[in-house]
Amino acid sequence: MTTTLNLRFSGGRQYDVVIGHGVINNISQLARHAGLGHECVIISDSNVAKLYSKQVKSRLQSARFDVLLLTFPSGERNKSRAVKQHLEDQMLRQRISRQAFVAAFGGGVTGDLAGFIAATYLRGIPYIQLPTSLLAMVDSSVGGKVGVDTPYGKNLVGAFWQPRLVVADIDFLKTLPEHELLNGFAEIIKHATIADEQFFRFLEKGMEKLRHMEPKTVESVLATNIEIKKNIVQEDERERSSRRSLLNFGHTIGHAVEQLSQYKMSHGQSVAFGMRVESLIAVQMGLLEKEDEQRLSALLDSAGFPASLKNSFSPDSVAKMMLSDKKNVDGHIRMALPAGIGRMAKKNGSHTISVSPSQIEAALKAFK
Ligand code: ADP
Ligand code: ZN
Repeated sequence: MTTTLNLRFSGGRQYDVVIGHGVINNISQLARHAGLGHECVIISDSNVAKLYSKQVKSRLQSARFDVLLLTFPSGERNKSRAVKQHLEDQMLRQRISRQAFVAAFGGGVTGDLAGFIAATYLRGIPYIQLPTSLLAMVDSSVGGKVGVDTPYGKNLVGAFWQPRLVVADIDFLKTLPEHELLNGFAEIIKHATIADEQFFRFLEKGMEKLRHMEPKTVESVLATNIEIKKNIVQEDERERSSRRSLLNFGHTIGHAVEQLSQYKMSHGQSVAFGMRVESLIAVQMGLLEKEDEQRLSALLDSAGFPASLKNSFSPDSVAKMMLSDKKNVDGHIRMALPAGIGRMAKKNGSHTISVSPSQIEAALKAFK
């Protein structure tokens, strides 16, 4: 079965997200249907290129696309301005024209990097997302946020640049290392918590099947997930209202512990921990029932996330790390907090709620 979701933005811009087993084999038809030209630059990391680039390249070539394959070494540290420049120089040397499109083929690192190259190359050319990791499929390939990391922090240089097509072929997940799945699970649970109780219940029942990558379960989870993300980004493409900040649930605390661990903790582990702490803050502020916080916590347990942090940080170092963020005003930290399973809190018309450092420290102490 194939699921197609359509995202619509202002000015008539729209694109399809196609999800299913073996959908990559339709790449040529899908690219043509999306109105893309015949010149294609596939950008892929070394792991994904080794496994799958031949297959995708030959699919496109046999449909008479001109294909240039560019690769870079895998790993977050290569999501950098230096690697971006190196790839762009190769495109310029090959005289890749404005009519060309980029195919970001890989995990979230590839999607962010290749998407950002497309956003700035000759002032912007189209691109498509071909996500191969669970995280990229459920989160980063949809929504148009692209960028690179800097020595001063992650994703600090980037753009909003929507893809023209997303093709999520579930078959790629067969070779994804198991620990990489957890990064996807954290965002899936986040999406269910912020927007869809029924989906949350489905996860409670089906977590075992999801962990074993049972094909039908994965397909339905992916479709529901992308639907939730789609609804949020469609309403707030460029993070202008607080709507899109709902997607930051678990990420305010999550980013702080991820940074404090110097990125030794994975994004998924960090966000899962962040959701535990932030939902406890919501309970302490009287926004969320204890029962719901426990339900979320139990689901995170069943997905395989530890209940506390091994290399635990002092609560005040986490609060300090968050306060150093320039976005914070008046010594308070704003975060998206749940008001129930599938519902987020709103105060004075905003989805971001002001929390004091002492409230954060109090919640963190519960996880020591
Ligand atoms: P993420 O997708 O979590 O944002 P990456 O893009 O770095 O981060 O992907 C995580 C790791 O998984 C990388 O080492 C990448 O090469 C590898 N990877 C991505 N997709 C696949 C796949 N389908 N099979 C095997 N390895 C993959
Ligand atoms: Zn995330």
